[in-house]
Amino acid sequence: MDESARLVEAALAYVPTGLYIDGTWRSTENTFDVINPATGAVITAISDATPEDGMAALDAAARAQESWAATAPRVRAELLRALFECVHELRDVFATLMTLEMGKPLTESYGEVTYGAEFLRWFSEEAVRINGRYTPSPEGNLRILTVKRPVGPALLITPWNFPLAMATRKAAPALAAGCTTILKPAGLTPLTSLAFVKAAEEVGFPPGVINIVATSRTAPMTGPMIQDPRLRKLSFTGSTPTGMALMKEAAGNVVRTSMELGGNAPFIVFEDADLDAAVTAARLTKLRNMGEACNAANRFYVHSSVAQKFGERLAAELSALRVGNGLAEGIDVGPIVSDVERDRIDGMVQAAIEDGGTVLVGGNRVAGPGFFFEPTVIANLPATSTLVNEEIFGPVAPIVPFETEDEVLGYANNSDVGLAAYVHTGSIERVLRIAERLEVGMIGINSGTISNAAAPFGGVKHSGTGREGGSEGIEEYLETVYVGFPDPFTK
Ligand code: ADP
Repeated sequence: MDESARLVEAALAYVPTGLYIDGTWRSTENTFDVINPATGAVITAISDATPEDGMAALDAAARAQESWAATAPRVRAELLRALFECVHELRDVFATLMTLEMGKPLTESYGEVTYGAEFLRWFSEEAVRINGRYTPSPEGNLRILTVKRPVGPALLITPWNFPLAMATRKAAPALAAGCTTILKPAGLTPLTSLAFVKAAEEVGFPPGVINIVATSRTAPMTGPMIQDPRLRKLSFTGSTPTGMALMKEAAGNVVRTSMELGGNAPFIVFEDADLDAAVTAARLTKLRNMGEACNAANRFYVHSSVAQKFGERLAAELSALRVGNGLAEGIDVGPIVSDVERDRIDGMVQAAIEDGGTVLVGGNRVAGPGFFFEPTVIANLPATSTLVNEEIFGPVAPIVPFETEDEVLGYANNSDVGLAAYVHTGSIERVLRIAERLEVGMIGINSGTISNAAAPFGGVKHSGTGREGGSEGIEEYLETVYVGFPDPFTK
């Protein structure tokens, strides 16, 4: 048996296929298939939760809430730390499952194991630093005491693009804060989350504290959960239209929401940038995860004096990348997650060619099996092209030339969304000017990498509300309660 067949066998032997509710794995009458996007073949079938199963998970989370909130922060921290160690011990299992169900090359999956596990370590450290304050009122007639409490049972809905990290980025702060959780993984990629929950069971999280319900019919299950008064928190990562629909549902029950939605990150290269470094950063931020990341560079604005050189060099780097099944050795770019997604990307590329764009490399689907698309660079696009103005979520880099700083800021900010931006320049003054004017939640300077468990991840405008990671991340799962005392010196 070769190495990748051995990894696959071990991963599938580990991953459970049922629902985990109240500390027990159970299977359901109906199942749904999980597909390998590199081959189009079924990996396995897993339990398909019904609305009743969702409600049973909420029952369990609500029952466990009081005792979990009362569990000492140090105990919660140690459990998270044990889970961090366990995910690392099982790194082969997690990496293999991610490549199998989502397609990213194995080396990137190992990278996500490290990144995803880091949220468990970071929030294990934050769990013991939940503070309030004690201050006099300005008039001196009151003492103001504040304490933090877990907001309550939390529903965590995750997308398919980072199957481990999106689960840990939500579950770790929720658990650290003292919230019980119900994880609803994306239907395309439930296996990694199922393995994550099994790892949590193994390290000893009490029954009801972590539950998982995968389903092929999400809204009928999550709708009644969100309307239930016992649910107090909804954290969602996914598309902006789904996030908007969930915010409306949450409004009906005044459930607190954290929303990490779509992006359309500009990648701006000024004439004084280190061009080689900018090209490398562009390749990394465009091709990481096959471009299927909400903070991926989406549109490349390059000063007209260097635009041609930048396009040629980026095209040369992309044409050297090896596209194929992420389980095979030496692969740089895996498949698109589904055929539907590939069709959508293909349609955007064809429209860009009609808009007058010049294809410098790629531009085509790759013959099957599997859902592959060539890494693509399209130059000389007008700023109005759809490819520039909508999230691509694929390995396609459109380049638009610009002349002035004000002009490019106008392009960058002319968007409903504002998640990330990348700026390449040799001028510190320009960095500071741009950072104050870009309408986004995160800015990477002379770099293509910004994600870090210790940094606040999130966006403005239609990119969402709230932050994940950093010291901000745990606040999303905490309520502040104020206790007022009369001034003890006043008789
Ligand atoms: P994407 O598929 O691009 O990640 P989606 O917003 O469709 O974006 O999906 C993200 C997550 O939201 C997935 O777990 C999906 O099952 C879930 N989801 C999709 N539609 C709904 C809905 N109407 N209500 C609740 N969750 C949903």
